[in-house]
Amino acid sequence: MEKKIIYLDHAATTPARPEVIEAMIPYLGEYYGNPSSIYELAGISKKAVAQARQTVAKALNCDSKEIYFTGGGSEADNWALKEAVQSYANRGRHIITSKIEHHAILHTCKYLEQKGYFVTYLNVDENGIINLKELQAAIRPDTILISIMFANNEIGTLQPIKEIGQIARRHQILFHTDAVQAFCQVPIDVEDLKIDLLSASGHKFNGPKGVGFLYIRNGLKLHSFIHGGGQERHRRAGTENVPGIVGLGKAVELAMADQEERMDRETKLRDYLLDRVLMEIPYTRINGHRRLRLPNNANFSFQFIEGEALLIMLDLKGICASTGSACSAGSVDPSHVLLAIGLPNDIARSSLRLTLGRETTKEEIDKTIDAIKEIVSKLRSMSSAYEDFVRWRGNRR
Ligand SMILES: *Cc1c(COP(=O)(O)O)cnc(C)c1O
Repeated sequence: MEKKIIYLDHAATTPARPEVIEAMIPYLGEYYGNPSSIYELAGISKKAVAQARQTVAKALNCDSKEIYFTGGGSEADNWALKEAVQSYANRGRHIITSKIEHHAILHTCKYLEQKGYFVTYLNVDENGIINLKELQAAIRPDTILISIMFANNEIGTLQPIKEIGQIARRHQILFHTDAVQAFCQVPIDVEDLKIDLLSASGHKFNGPKGVGFLYIRNGLKLHSFIHGGGQERHRRAGTENVPGIVGLGKAVELAMADQEERMDRETKLRDYLLDRVLMEIPYTRINGHRRLRLPNNANFSFQFIEGEALLIMLDLKGICASTGSACSAGSVDPSHVLLAIGLPNDIARSSLRLTLGRETTKEEIDKTIDAIKEIVSKLRSMSSAYEDFVRWRGNRR
């Protein structure tokens, strides 16, 4: 690519680190053995997969037997929900989730409703946090599963996972969390947080795409989602994505090595971005909780403009951002997350998500703020709603 881009869309995906790519290459080439075969060449692949599994388990404080590699975050979410409810159908047919989940959860819940399951979609407050009293009240004798995301992909809000885990355990209800945005970004201890099922995805933490995992707590009877061979302890068939799994393992190892420093650095940079934008651009709001959010997430609404237009003009300057989740890009509907936190349609549609990464610099943030300032005032000068507003404000003075 000619132009040097400023990449601020790490919630959509992240670049694989050079060390990750380097670790994967031998398993695309010379070490091509199928881990299920018995000769020495296959043993190399088998060992590499086992090592990656151990690295992941260590990061979550669980046993490596509790980690099952999948084809990404969406598959892990589908597996957790569809098979948890089937495996525990004798206990009931009721699921509790939230209104701000990723579509991998929400669309799976819609599918399960068609199959005769009942789903409660919890509200969130203005910051995007669920209400624990509402959760308690939603529990019925036939509730079998609670699925609440660890951190939101649009507004970065972190949920009270420990409290949810305690409530679920007390009622003997399974607790799944979609931790695709949170894993490697913030510390997660599945034992301490009483998590039964957890989904994650390699490409959200500088690993490769198309590979993720589901943590399944020991003792849970969760049926296989992909049927076939005996891979992944008979729970997920298909020849292992060895290079992908190796890359994922390397990415976890690297991310855990400097997690605290990275969180610190990104939080400071993010707060600098939030403060400056809020201070320097009028009629702007921050979406999501000011403190209880992912270190790398900033989400704004700029009144009187269309987020899509802002996005296109930022792209012309080589800045990659997002209006909401990438999955709904191209659709004109405002984000379900922004509507759930109570924003009116027009404010929801004026949103911009900037998500930082380990390679993001202060200089890039400064350039981005300058670009946003320029574009927002240009777009507002073309907006009749803004013109009307300025006239109205003038008359009141
Ligand atoms: C990206 C994402 C997913 C989907 O993961 P894939 O690996 O892209 O399938 C699921 N949930 C959340 C919160 C995400 O951000």
